[in-house]
Amino acid sequence: MAEANINHGTATAAGAVPYPADAPRSAALFGRASQVTPGGVNSPVRAFRAVGGTPRFMVSGTGPYLTDADGREYVDLVCSWGPMILGHSHPEVLAAVQAAAARGTSFGTPGEGEVELAEEIVARVAPVEQVRLVSSGTEATMSAIRLARGFTGRAKVVKFAGCYHGHVDALLAAAGSGVATFGLPDTPGVTGAQAGETLVLPYNDLAAVREAFAAHPGEIACVITEASPGNMGVVPPLDGFNAGLKELCAADGALFISDEVMTGFRTSKAGWFGVDGVVPDLMTFGKVMGGGFPAAAFGGRADVMAHLAPAGPVYQAGTLSGNPVATAAGLAQLRLLDDAAYATVNSVSEQIRTLVAEALNKEGVAHRLQTASNMFSVFFTDGPVRDFDEAKAQEGFRFNAFFHSMLSQGVYLPPSAFESWFVSTAHDARAIERIAAALPTAARAAAEATA
Ligand SMILES: *Cc1c(COP(=O)(O)O)cnc(C)c1O
Repeated sequence: MAEANINHGTATAAGAVPYPADAPRSAALFGRASQVTPGGVNSPVRAFRAVGGTPRFMVSGTGPYLTDADGREYVDLVCSWGPMILGHSHPEVLAAVQAAAARGTSFGTPGEGEVELAEEIVARVAPVEQVRLVSSGTEATMSAIRLARGFTGRAKVVKFAGCYHGHVDALLAAAGSGVATFGLPDTPGVTGAQAGETLVLPYNDLAAVREAFAAHPGEIACVITEASPGNMGVVPPLDGFNAGLKELCAADGALFISDEVMTGFRTSKAGWFGVDGVVPDLMTFGKVMGGGFPAAAFGGRADVMAHLAPAGPVYQAGTLSGNPVATAAGLAQLRLLDDAAYATVNSVSEQIRTLVAEALNKEGVAHRLQTASNMFSVFFTDGPVRDFDEAKAQEGFRFNAFFHSMLSQGVYLPPSAFESWFVSTAHDARAIERIAAALPTAARAAAEATA
């Protein structure tokens, strides 16, 4: 990879920070954006509201680095929220995209690229016998739930507090603290009728799921869970949790949907299924499988998928589904993700986790690093984090201080304490050295932060 040529964000021994807190060109763009787009962004967490400050407008990415509108370079630990597992602008993915685009960008007909991508997914993930391609993770979970309801003829859906499945109406209910509660909508615009069939339970609590099935026998269409949650920070399933869900579903005739939009093709070649081996009825995918383009999918048991139009009666469609450029990007990326690539990502993740723990321990900052394969996040709390309530009990103000210190030293973390950090095969020794150089100052900022 070419040496980056501008503004290396290397912390000095004295802890001075190379980047000023203001970012004038990003601020100007944010001002313009706020005139024409609600809140100035096209997806809320990008606005930095959780951490404060000016969101950085990025202009380019190469390998593990992003460059913003003010010409500042950052080591990227967000990786577009997971998709960029090979780093930015990977030459082989770019070549596949350019070749596909040169043949035409959308036909609205079937094409060979879709078949190849579907074959790759089916070959990697054993429970997926058939797959339908869509354009976003939200579409994938929305469609999987419609299919589960159509297949079972039942209405109710069980989800877990703190699990995010995209902005599907029925799944924007998180409610419930500790007690099984019928979902109250989390957001205006979702009606009680849309969320009212959603039962929200505490994560990692099999007893609550058992009680829900006992209270509503034969009424629950499906249980949907993140295969290993990464949207309340990283909160992996306790031993036996996913297997227990599968068993309870099977006993009642409900479907078990494992949402692998984040973990799929990231936590192993076969995603979280490759880690815990629990066989779901349906699975959802997105993020990594699109290679940085809008491509996602849902799939699973052939007898269930056979209910989907045009094979069956459950309607689902998409003008850009299976788009040739997106499928070419996804396929090129998946073909590069062999055992060696996962070994590299896992090793990068472990090195960074070790550095973070060392820096925080040195400053005496109470924290907990939680890991799911190469996904991880830092909770500023003492105890284990097993569910959303425990995640919310952390000292978020310490994360905010830590985040801004890292940002000012040229390391781009997810702008919220409730998100996984993501690394790539492109995070080489130089990138890791820059993270190591920034951590002591950031750990001190976290130690000194006050609520
Ligand atoms: C990101 C995500 C989604 C939603 O995907 P979009 O492409 O943003 O619609 C769904 N489920 C999980 C687990 C995710 O992490």
